[in-house]
Amino acid sequence: MRNSYTLTMRIAVVSDIHANLVAFDAVLRHAGEIDGVWNTGDAVGYGPQPSEVINRLRELDAVWVAGNHERAATGAISTEDFNEGAAAAAHWTRDRLSDAEKSGLDALPETCETAGCVLVHGTLRDPIWEYLAGRYSAEAHLALMPVRIGFVGHTHIPLLIREDPEDDDGFEFIRMRDGDSYDLRGEHKFVLNAGSVGQPRDDDPRASYGIFDTDALTFTLHRVDYDIKTTQKLMADEDLPLWLIQRLSSGR
Ligand code: ZN
Repeated sequence: MRNSYTLTMRIAVVSDIHANLVAFDAVLRHAGEIDGVWNTGDAVGYGPQPSEVINRLRELDAVWVAGNHERAATGAISTEDFNEGAAAAAHWTRDRLSDAEKSGLDALPETCETAGCVLVHGTLRDPIWEYLAGRYSAEAHLALMPVRIGFVGHTHIPLLIREDPEDDDGFEFIRMRDGDSYDLRGEHKFVLNAGSVGQPRDDDPRASYGIFDTDALTFTLHRVDYDIKTTQKLMADEDLPLWLIQRLSSGR
């Protein structure tokens, strides 16, 4: 962490780490000097190191909102809406976490405002479950935003939604790639999805995250190579479902 004399805050925005500590640590090394970590949920589930990821986020004093996988890991929601592999991984996670870790997850808020931005895993209409991935969800989310800049997760796909009154829909969807940088100044609303650290699904297996500069109001997306095989080995050692192990290699 940098000292508090710097005027600007350089925030690492992460999401959907999914208990993949190897990927998360690679992201933190890549990010270098930062002033904070904002996490839009699903830190656990699927991956082999849920407690280690929780501990790392606590060490970093991360701002953190709950996703469906935090709720499933504690039993707060049932896994009947999860697919078979996700449910198996959620039950493995539930058995693995201590009672203290589970109460910590249960205490996470579903939405949070920080430094003039709003964070939620899904959408402000349905924080835990709704995917912000189409016109219908984007309209509802933008209308409910109490501030101009928001961060979401859940889809595992890096995306920028830019409010644009001249567009027929009133906003535009932009898929963000490695190194893309955006200026978020002005009067219109922006919603950003930093992609997934621990289980990317946009055909790019590299960990995804972004750097948000709270003063300049810029956001830059980064993709980071990590040792996928180490995470896969840890998953295999725990007999986690094979397709969850394999999908890390393809990023889908
Ligand atoms: Zn997720």
